Amino acid sequence: MAGRIREDVIVAIRERLPLDQVVSDYVALRPAGAGRLKGLCPFHDEKTPSFNVNAALGFYKCFGCSASGDAITFVRELEHLSFTEAVEVLARKAGVEVTYEQGSAAPRQQGSQRQRLLDAHRDAAAFYAGQLTGSDEAEIGRAFLRERGFDESAWAHFGVGYAPTGWESLTTHLRNKGFTNEELLAGGLATTGQRGTPYDRFRGRLVWPIRDMKGDVIGFGARRLREDDQGPKYLNTPETPLYKKSQVLYGVDLAKNDIATRYKAVVVEGYTDVMACHLAGETTAVATCGTAFGAEHVQVLRRLLMDQDEFRGRVVFTFDGDEAGQKAALKAFADDQRFVTQLFVAVQPDGLDPCELRQQRGDLAVRDLIASHVPLAEFAIRSALARFDLDIPEGRVSALAAAAPVVATLKDWSLRDEYARRLAGWLGMDEQAVLARVRGGAEPGEGAGGERQQQQRRATRRAAAARPDPRDPGLIVEREVMKLAVQRPAMLGPEFDALDTVVFTAPAYAAVRAGVAKAGGTATAVGGTEWVTRVRDEVETDAVRDLVTELAVEPLQTVDEEDQRYASSLVARLEEMALTRQIQDLKGRLQRLNPVDQAIDYNRAFGELIVLEQRKKALRERGVGAV
Ligand SMILES: [Zn+2]
Repeated sequence: MAGRIREDVIVAIRERLPLDQVVSDYVALRPAGAGRLKGLCPFHDEKTPSFNVNAALGFYKCFGCSASGDAITFVRELEHLSFTEAVEVLARKAGVEVTYEQGSAAPRQQGSQRQRLLDAHRDAAAFYAGQLTGSDEAEIGRAFLRERGFDESAWAHFGVGYAPTGWESLTTHLRNKGFTNEELLAGGLATTGQRGTPYDRFRGRLVWPIRDMKGDVIGFGARRLREDDQGPKYLNTPETPLYKKSQVLYGVDLAKNDIATRYKAVVVEGYTDVMACHLAGETTAVATCGTAFGAEHVQVLRRLLMDQDEFRGRVVFTFDGDEAGQKAALKAFADDQRFVTQLFVAVQPDGLDPCELRQQRGDLAVRDLIASHVPLAEFAIRSALARFDLDIPEGRVSALAAAAPVVATLKDWSLRDEYARRLAGWLGMDEQAVLARVRGGAEPGEGAGGERQQQQRRATRRAAAARPDPRDPGLIVEREVMKLAVQRPAMLGPEFDALDTVVFTAPAYAAVRAGVAKAGGTATAVGGTEWVTRVRDEVETDAVRDLVTELAVEPLQTVDEEDQRYASSLVARLEEMALTRQIQDLKGRLQRLNPVDQAIDYNRAFGELIVLEQRKKALRERGVGAV
């Protein structure tokens, strides 16, 4: 049992360690005016930042999921720690010594298990690093690194080490430093055989320390070096209290600042690829450790990539274009498509990974590889086409059959239609035919089921479209504006009536908006029960009618319901988000156009882009407050 931590320790931590410094280890924060900071909430999944930090007061609050508290709560809940453990983590960061209440039960000398495991990992990393530079048997490891173009300064920068071949080299070393067998086993540094005696998990291998965002070593990745090693090529720390492989990204401690400032993250496959990228100047590179890139990894990166207005960064995957890469790309569709427009793929020339590329062709080739990225959707579709001979009609028909389902998996319908059009171009087929095929393919099994089944499916789809999730972070602004239009139309006035239809991305909100327009618009509406009734009468379906009621009842997300600035800033925000989307689309189009061969289209698109950028700038200069 831990003794109670003295109150003055907590006071000292508060004095020395501002909350924003603690939060920044996990979330990129941007100034949000009035001394406040904002970021993507680490406690819930969101697209627009609603996690607010008041550094002066030392408190945070998420307006999306209601998480709130101080630095201790933050670390506790995010790292799933006890109060004592959280204080110990913060004390270490603040350079405050932890002392415990006298007389409280069993005051410990040693800190929490978590802290002990971190200490053991720190000592283990130092031990391995010392072995790599100092021991004779590590020559095979040194040769491995040198052959791949990594000199001693590179080993030191990444903390690369060598695990000796002996069974108990590390185990003995750490036991001599006072760590127990239980601690070595719990941290995954040692493992046990049939007789139950612990021995080193990593033996005769190169080891890379894997760090969390704060830079603490939480595990290791170890590569086989010798022919007689029966184990897998790579061996990683198992799941431990410190190490969760679904979230761990190798290199994130070194990359996080550049990811946040350059709005880009590069995902490569291995430890040496991360090293090669960083040394080549691509310092946003990270890698997963012994697992495929998954939804939780996306979340970790998104928190670093958030911008003031929207998550707009790019995540670039490098693939060698083989089947594994294609599978990973297709899986990314299946997992989470809300960010599909932010995902890109850089296909490695001749299947060379970044490490090999740097060795053979130098730093510039690595940077060229990363720069040559294409949208993930395009990569996935083209991968499906690659198996067919498009020069013969039979090949094109089969290719369409293979690629249409891939296009159909795109959940964003505007994106889906756009790629259907492009697919038509790649195949040299009629656009309408391809569109029809893709739209038909969007319903797996449709046509196979009976007429009634199909009707049911359509009805369910309509219902889902009619009632968007009220907490959908991507739609919060749209919802809030629609609530105002129903509850307090006068506050929106003519501004709302003038909005372009493209600002509403959810069909259901667009349907309510159409009802508002038919009812006479917000410019002249007075509000009240009569107004809500009129809007309800004007909408097309019962489902949308229910939504109007819902919008009329739900409280506004502002304390001061009479605040005119709240309404204006929401409308401006909505316009800004739409502009951001349009600008992104245009930039994509510009990238695809050849400025020489397609000069007319290119110049027109460029002109449009400048107009949109100016409009966005003007919107911002109106000085509307953040919502
Ligand atoms: Zn939240």
